[in-house]
Amino acid sequence: MEEVNLSYKEVVEKIKNKQINNILFLTGAGISTSSGIPDFRSPNGLYSKVQKYKLEYPEQIFEIKYFTKNQMPFYEMDKEFFSNKPHFTSAHYFMAEVNRREQLLFVFSQNVDGLELEAGLPPEKLCQVHGNYRGARCQKCGFKHDINKYKEFVQKQVIYKCENCKRGPVRPNVVFFGESLDKGFTKNTYKIAAADCVFIMGTSMQVAPFNLTVEKISKNVPVIVINRDMVYLPYKKYIHLKNDIDDNIEKLMTDLGWDFPKIERNYPSNWFTDPQKQEETKIEETEHENFSYSSGYYNNNITHLQDNQEDKEATEKNEDQEELNNLEKKFEDLDV
Ligand SMILES: [Zn+2]
Repeated sequence: MEEVNLSYKEVVEKIKNKQINNILFLTGAGISTSSGIPDFRSPNGLYSKVQKYKLEYPEQIFEIKYFTKNQMPFYEMDKEFFSNKPHFTSAHYFMAEVNRREQLLFVFSQNVDGLELEAGLPPEKLCQVHGNYRGARCQKCGFKHDINKYKEFVQKQVIYKCENCKRGPVRPNVVFFGESLDKGFTKNTYKIAAADCVFIMGTSMQVAPFNLTVEKISKNVPVIVINRDMVYLPYKKYIHLKNDIDDNIEKLMTDLGWDFPKIERNYPSNWFTDPQKQEETKIEETEHENFSYSSGYYNNNITHLQDNQEDKEATEKNEDQEELNNLEKKFEDLDV
């Protein structure tokens, strides 16, 4: 199949004229930066609230092994997380608008905030691969619990014990490190190959196995990256809208001739102290002759996948795992 070589202008024209009608999005944290969600590491960020627990490293709070032993740091972080009232951003609005114009195929999001739905995206068009805050369940027996009740316990800072087995702590349906991805991920990956245009927004595609999705993108469709930084893709060419994501999305909607509301931007407090974040938006066509992921990084993630298999609670011998293995295999054949 011949590789497609459309310019930014040509892609905009094709979307406008409805010659592109099956748009797929792969998104990450960058699209929620201006939503008012506090970031994790900044001085007043979420992590600062749980430093007293002396975790070995910040990300330990998201590990299932740690949560099983000690739920309090996560409950405390969630209290802080829930105390903010984030709003959808231009990026969320854009995806919902693509859907309203009947040109959306599907959205894969790495975010747990669910702001896509707030913007009006129907749940059946969205897979939150790292889970969500729409439901809760018992960590031990899996019994479903009401998320609002979970929030009440979080508010009181009391561990919510399962109403079924009376033993396990209740946790939200987010995916901790060391757990399998949301089932919707492998169930819907076939849609990637069916897309006639792919947007990669707010992610540098470095987290496995999410980054394996790019292997499934058909070679003859345009790929538009809207991200502050470069993204590594197995493509010789993609269109890169660089620097501020919200600016770029608004420019894109203007170029499409679409109306959009003025959406407030609430960046984390330390956001504008970084001079690199002040640059103007820029459109670039990026060439990647030799793409490769760092093999060390990738191997780490393979170990992570194997850990998943050993974890009894997380293991489910089903097609999902098989599909993941196939993806992995395909990836290994490719390179590194
Ligand atoms: Zn239980």
